[in-house]
Amino acid sequence: MKKTVLIIGAGGVGRVVAHKCAQNRDVFETIILASRTKSKCDLIASEIESEIITDSVNADISDEVEILIKKYNPNIVINVALPYQDLAIMNACINTAVHYLDTANYEHPDTAHFEYKEQWAKDDEFKKAGILGVLGSGFDPGVTNVFIAYAQKHYFDEIHTVDILDCNDGDHGYPFATNFNPEINIREVTANGRYWENGEWIVIPALSQKIDWDYPEVGVRDSYLIYHEEMESLVKNIPHLKRMRFFMTFSQRYLTHLKVLENVGMTSIKPILFEGKEIVPLQFLKALLPDPSTLGARTKGKTNIGVYVTGLKNGIEKTVYIYNVAQHEEAYRDTKANGVSFTTGVPAMIGAKLVLESKWSGSGVLNMEQFNPDPFMAELNLRGLPWQVIEK
Ligand code: NDP
Repeated sequence: MKKTVLIIGAGGVGRVVAHKCAQNRDVFETIILASRTKSKCDLIASEIESEIITDSVNADISDEVEILIKKYNPNIVINVALPYQDLAIMNACINTAVHYLDTANYEHPDTAHFEYKEQWAKDDEFKKAGILGVLGSGFDPGVTNVFIAYAQKHYFDEIHTVDILDCNDGDHGYPFATNFNPEINIREVTANGRYWENGEWIVIPALSQKIDWDYPEVGVRDSYLIYHEEMESLVKNIPHLKRMRFFMTFSQRYLTHLKVLENVGMTSIKPILFEGKEIVPLQFLKALLPDPSTLGARTKGKTNIGVYVTGLKNGIEKTVYIYNVAQHEEAYRDTKANGVSFTTGVPAMIGAKLVLESKWSGSGVLNMEQFNPDPFMAELNLRGLPWQVIEK
């Protein structure tokens, strides 16, 4: 029963995954944490009482990941490096027949565009290798997909509309900082908004649609329509769907900083020549901003992420709101990380746990809503992310 897990990536999320795996030693007997900078793995290992093996790897190079996998022979690889590494790590898992799990879909470093196409294309190879590729086992994607699958299984015959509502009400005290990797975060926010209605994608200018949403335990917050990756799989896997949207809260202070940075070209990913050297403005900005993994100790407040679902049960219209409230301070006490890393890392550990316990089984590349939601929902309550259902 006891298994070996290889975690790749030692940022905010990697820290939470390592802590949470170490809290579940009955399943994760041996834990290896590897990343580009080994000292970051060592620091995380030093925070954890039981033994964590650390190593270094450049996960852009599939052969390096393959060598690492052969060295430790894990039962599953949890990829919490950056989305750029997804394909290289997936290829290494295929070649070594080891299960794969990630929290973000593949993105090419040179184009601010992400989609599942290239990961889904590996479905046959995963099936041939007899392994599972679990895509997007963070909070959103991740828990939100599972919430919707749970609503579909227990509350609806037909789901007609879904709004995913993501509020981070934490305050880290800096005028401007991003709660996870700034490059990924800013790319997401500055992209055009997109939602799905009556079988097609509607594109709108970035941050041009806003609603005021009353988040339980937080209050009313400005929530902006943005495109978010879980919608790509959900519109395929949830039948009868008429509309799906995603809203995220941003404070006016955050948006003002972002606008200025955008206007002066600092959020661009097009390389420029500076004093004879090519630099990418967004990467330079990342170097200036606070490292998200250091925000945990200073962040106070709550997150509330949930799904608001309408549809039919026995011919009667109904509404269900499923959400989780997490507390930044509590996340830090448990894992020395902020609430955003916590809400991502805990579901990554849970997904891996269910695969290793064979509660989620099979082969191929699958998104979270394609698995049985019940064991995952039960684990959320046990591992620090309890959820509520409001039924109308
Ligand atoms: P960080 O930037 O804090 O950490 C990323 C880690 O990956 C760093 O340790 C970094 O190493 C390492 N890394 C980067 N490139 C390589 C490489 N080529 N080889 C090996 N290691 C590498 O990011 P986060 O921890 O905030 O995020 C991790 C992942 O989680 C991202 O993919 C992000 O998109 C995803 N995420 C998902 C969410 C969800 O809800 N689904 C929400 C938030 C994040 P180094 O320190 O040397 O740079």
